[in-house]
Amino acid sequence: TTDTPNLTLTTSDTLFTRAKEHIPGGVNSPVRAFRAVGGHPVFMQSAKGAWLTDVDGNQYLDFINSWGPMILGHAPDLVLDAVQQAVQGSLSFGAPTRREVEMAELIKQMVPSIEKVRLVNSGTEATMSAIRVARGYTGRNKIIKFEGCYHGHGDSFLIAAGSGALTLGAPDSPGVTQGVAQDTLTVPYNNLAAVEEIIAANPNQVAALILEPVVGNMGLVAPQEGYLQGLRDLCTKHGIVLIFDEVMTGFRLARGGAQELYGIKPDLTTLGKIIGGGMPVGAYGGRRDIMDQVAPAGKVYQAGTLSGNPIATAAGIAQLTYLNEHPELYDELNRITTRIADGTRNIAAELGLNYTVNQVGSMFSLFFTDQPVTDLESAKASDTEAFGRYFRAMLHRGIYLAPAQYEALFVSTAITDELVETYLTACRESLLEAHGL
Ligand code: PMP
Repeated sequence: TTDTPNLTLTTSDTLFTRAKEHIPGGVNSPVRAFRAVGGHPVFMQSAKGAWLTDVDGNQYLDFINSWGPMILGHAPDLVLDAVQQAVQGSLSFGAPTRREVEMAELIKQMVPSIEKVRLVNSGTEATMSAIRVARGYTGRNKIIKFEGCYHGHGDSFLIAAGSGALTLGAPDSPGVTQGVAQDTLTVPYNNLAAVEEIIAANPNQVAALILEPVVGNMGLVAPQEGYLQGLRDLCTKHGIVLIFDEVMTGFRLARGGAQELYGIKPDLTTLGKIIGGGMPVGAYGGRRDIMDQVAPAGKVYQAGTLSGNPIATAAGIAQLTYLNEHPELYDELNRITTRIADGTRNIAAELGLNYTVNQVGSMFSLFFTDQPVTDLESAKASDTEAFGRYFRAMLHRGIYLAPAQYEALFVSTAITDELVETYLTACRESLLEAHGL
């Protein structure tokens, strides 16, 4: 066993004590509190490229990247320059701007299933709005979602929810009325028969089926061969709006997201994270006939004071344009992440742990179980206590991972081959430490 290197976190600890006085749990989003892994959260000061710097001056290699947005690493000049230029022209108008048109054109070009798109301010808004328009379009009430998928904190989605809701043991949140909950039908992921059954049990009542085409919120779980096509066929057959929630996977797994990677065309797509380059942006879009139901074109109401914000769209356009013009970076991200995933798997195997590592493109998860992970049930076989010890050991070696087993990691283009070695060395030491080997 290698001893845990010392990390001084006095300023973070002081801030956390203050934060808990004023903010529920001391954080503005639950997973940040490190509840699942023990210890106190690290308060961040700044970041550049692959490196985060905390308020005590410690540095960490970042494998969260703001939970996805920072695909080019932190503070890329091209995004900062665009924002700095935009700031000069005021921060908000609440009126239409040129950038919103350019942004819509860019999104449509990169994600061809999108014929019309509406900008919002978060992934949560995007998914809430998408099911509203699906309900308006079909005149039906129910939606199907998958156990362990997370679609933001809209009431309809806090049923068998993944991510922090799962980690904190509240997949069905208090405060969601029974009336809302009964309209959300849940089934296990990667099981087509279960979807067929639930559709049959609710004839002509299902407005939409929403899923993460590659799941990031129960840890990384890939769709099995033929699964997405099977869902597409079922939705077409039963007049159900198929919604791909690509808030994580959009512009990440390919320019056109998971739908490009797997060659499946959803009816609606929800986007967030990368689309804003780190600014608060989300979007939903898809078939013209469905999107034309949205006000003021149609009667399904959805609005936003800050939607299409000039600074957010400047950041988003800059980052998306770069991704659009550099498709080769997806191959490189894939190569680097494969090195990380294979390296992690091999190290675990050498130590006799045989842990499961799932990877799709630049997203991956190390599950503390030797069984394949294909759905929520199998993800839950993970030894979350051991994961917590591993997380803390990595943190103290300067590797910043998602502070929960049921999350995916995100690799940025700032991770070089040399940094992969840094990660793998820490991974070996931390797995040894976590298991007292
Ligand atoms: N959908 C998915 C697939 C997500 O991963 C998330 C956030 N992690 C959301 C929706 C919600 O996005 P936001 O946090 O921006 O509201």
